[in-house]
Amino acid sequence: MPKLRNTFARSIARAKKLLAKWNTAITKTTLAVLNNKEVELRSYNNPHPKDISELARIIKADQAMHFRAPLQFSKRISEECDGLYFQGRVYISERLTSPKDVATTLIHEVNHYLNQSDEHLETKKQVFKEEYRAAVAEYLGQNRPMTRNLYKICAQRVCEDYDVPLPEEHKPNPKPPKGIFYR
Ligand SMILES: [Zn+2]
Repeated sequence: MPKLRNTFARSIARAKKLLAKWNTAITKTTLAVLNNKEVELRSYNNPHPKDISELARIIKADQAMHFRAPLQFSKRISEECDGLYFQGRVYISERLTSPKDVATTLIHEVNHYLNQSDEHLETKKQVFKEEYRAAVAEYLGQNRPMTRNLYKICAQRVCEDYDVPLPEEHKPNPKPPKGIFYR
């Protein structure tokens, strides 16, 4: 499917241009990771064989579905996850079309890579920590001034999207996440 792959490459290239334009500490790190190929960038249309079982788990499908109906399989996962970091690989959903959405998703997933988030997702508290940090990175990457209210919005979004409670230490006002400037 060369046409799809070209579209994917074009969408990534446009997002990288935007990251360079934002030119923040976060986007510089994100671009360095991508350009140095520290992570492997993939579309769900072309999943790594080692990731099939994890992707199937996320969409609550049988692994065999990937072999039986690969197009349906990649469509389901791309609807479920805008992006995903797993074992050194970053996936970006083909469903994302705007350069801004692709760029912020790249920031988010590279943040997971830098923190090895996929190794720390056992408890709901850990899920909050990893996802809250990545969500704040998306805003900082765009040079958005982080207000108390914006931290709150980020934290609430994470609680809703990942179905996790707000940890006690972030009540009543969510604190800035630790370790965001990872380099
Ligand atoms: Zn995430």
